[in-house]
Amino acid sequence: MRFDLPDTPPGAEALRAELRAFLAEAGRAWTPEIRARSWMGFDRDFSREVGARGWIGMTWPKAYGGHERSGLERVVVLEEMLAAGAPVGAHWIGDRQSGPLILRLGTEEQRRRILPGIARGELAFCIGLSEPDAGSDLANLRTKAERVPGGWKLNGRKIWTTFAHKSDYMIALVRTSPAPEGGSRHAGLSQFLVDLRLSGISIRPIRDLAGADSFNEVTFDDVMLKEDDLVGAEGAGWAQATSELAFERSGPDRYLSSYPALSLGLDALAANPVPGAEVTVGRMVARLSALRGMSLSVGGMLERGEDPAVEAALVKDVGNVFEQALPEHLRGLLDPEDSPAELRALLAALTQLTPTFSLRGGTREILRGIIARDLGLR
Ligand SMILES: Cc1cc2nc3c(=O)[nH]c(=O)nc-3n(C[C@H](O)[C@H](O)[C@H](O)COP(=O)(O)OP(=O)(O)OC[C@H]3O[C@@H](n4cnc5c(N)ncnc54)[C@H](O)[C@@H]3O)c2cc1C
Repeated sequence: MRFDLPDTPPGAEALRAELRAFLAEAGRAWTPEIRARSWMGFDRDFSREVGARGWIGMTWPKAYGGHERSGLERVVVLEEMLAAGAPVGAHWIGDRQSGPLILRLGTEEQRRRILPGIARGELAFCIGLSEPDAGSDLANLRTKAERVPGGWKLNGRKIWTTFAHKSDYMIALVRTSPAPEGGSRHAGLSQFLVDLRLSGISIRPIRDLAGADSFNEVTFDDVMLKEDDLVGAEGAGWAQATSELAFERSGPDRYLSSYPALSLGLDALAANPVPGAEVTVGRMVARLSALRGMSLSVGGMLERGEDPAVEAALVKDVGNVFEQALPEHLRGLLDPEDSPAELRALLAALTQLTPTFSLRGGTREILRGIIARDLGLR
């Protein structure tokens, strides 16, 4: 494993200043609970505004509504959005992984139909991987698409699908042919672009422990898909979906989820210094800086077309440990009675949310298994 640091592009700091001014204005209305949810918050108007400013699909070709900017400029946008706790959920998944998937493997028709809408902040995507008996053991999934005249017939059930109830499309991983007898269960899986308005789809929101309707159970009952709703090659779904996971696991959303609390906490400490706080703060900031370097490095590998699945798993695991521990470190430093109300509310909301950080996108145990295998430990 090797993490090389790419250079920051010229103009990145001017872009950062532009974002900070925009977010300071837009963020006036965001409560601590909204900031704590960050990329799990959904606000279509905000996403449209971000799209209009050219900050979605930033690296994609202009022909598909993109802006042909560098991957590192895109990272500047992601970092500033997360640092402010902006409710970016309506465009996050499309920008992070569904759009890049369609750009790489979609047909020309799919690219022209879908990508400009994502880049404008108008099309929201969800990820259809997990099923009732297929979470960590994803290859056990049962949802299937059968070939029928003119297309495919989809039947089955997905679960924990974040924002299915608010999204326009799902990228679903389903079985299109049985796994070969005695062969790999990864064979015979395919990805589909599923329009969530189609008849035969029912979406049932599931309330999470913090009381929000963020994820869903999605049932497909004889849903008719068109021939060209297949994304990429039939039967290549496993390899396609797992390479998508490197995009999902390595970005700043895997270590900055608690950042708004860090910045408010540092402001509070600056106003009311606590003796010895430098040691804890120094450790937190050093760790954050190392994670940022690792994440940028994986971003560079993705841009070069490499497959950094193991490095991405490491960023997510170490990042989740950091973002889960951060609220506790701050609580240890600051007297709750003396802390600003906004910080207290943010820490309260994060306490409810942080346990999910090491479940969503692949659990800690599964990621550590991937890393251990690469290190030759299992
Ligand atoms: C907030 C949130 C949002 C989510 N959003 C989505 C989404 O949008 N789309 C989607 O498809 N899914 C989504 N998920 C589902 C998530 O990917 C799964 O919850 C996760 O992969 C674990 O699967 P599971 O829940 O079936 O648990 P299981 O796989 O049953 O795991 C239960 C426990 O056993 C451990 N375990 C399982 N197998 C092993 C093993 N081989 N070795 C060691 N330990 C093991 C796990 O680490 C875990 O702790 C979301 C989950 C959360 C919490």
